[in-house]
Amino acid sequence: MGHPYQHERIGLATIHGKHLAVAPPFRRLLGAEIVTAPDVDTDSLGTFSGEIARPAPVVETCALKAELAFRTMDVDCAIASEGSYGPIDRLPFHAAGVEIMAFVDRRRGLRIVETLATHRTNWRLLSFKAGDPEVRAAATAIGFPDYGVFVICNSDRSQPIKGLSSLDEIAAAVDREASRSDDGTAILIADMRAHRNPMRMKVLRALAYKLARRLDRLCPKCGTPGFGHIASRRGLPCESCSAPTHWIDFEVDGCSVCGHAEARPRRDGRRTASRLSCTGCRGA
Ligand SMILES: [Zn+2]
Ligand SMILES: [Zn+2]
Repeated sequence: MGHPYQHERIGLATIHGKHLAVAPPFRRLLGAEIVTAPDVDTDSLGTFSGEIARPAPVVETCALKAELAFRTMDVDCAIASEGSYGPIDRLPFHAAGVEIMAFVDRRRGLRIVETLATHRTNWRLLSFKAGDPEVRAAATAIGFPDYGVFVICNSDRSQPIKGLSSLDEIAAAVDREASRSDDGTAILIADMRAHRNPMRMKVLRALAYKLARRLDRLCPKCGTPGFGHIASRRGLPCESCSAPTHWIDFEVDGCSVCGHAEARPRRDGRRTASRLSCTGCRGA
């Protein structure tokens, strides 16, 4: 018997070409077909350029976005993804991000959310005054023209300039937006929309594989897809006195539909913790 999602049509709520990242893993691992949902305005749920506030914490937003597909498509399963990128504290010029991908199966009452943290990003946010000669080099450093950029007026972030297609256009947009800003500055920021950001597309593909691998595993009790890691239990015994330590003792896999759970030993095969991590032995 094949996987329950073999030949299943799964709606993908996106207007930014994420189909390219999500479809191959779902086809290869599950035999499922990813179909882009028509007429879904995912921008109404918030975007990267900061002009629309997000309505709820990011995981919930992501599941809501997936469910948008049910409005316009006759499918029982849907996927959406949500990314968040920014600077790393105290490390100038270093950025990181986290990608979240939600899968909803309304027939089975199943919701699976997988996340992937990454340092692979070209995310940058830089301020410039009108006429700054560094603008072109900064856009090139972000990866333009292979990667997109936005220009935003610092005192009015409601109208980011998108669709910039040359360094001259970028420089002109910075001059114009800086001139009309109260503080005389414009922001140059990386375009994080998947179809204008090849590095983000790669991260999304890795996350789609992670999600498809999770769905590939069926609950041994009820057969629902998505059986996998739900918790880690601490308390691995100390190697010398056997008292529980804060080290992880075993992992728990579970099913979110029937509640069945199974413990499994650590992947690295360790049965005891170093005495250096034992509060009793360390104090002795
Ligand atoms: Zn001990
Ligand atoms: Zn189950």
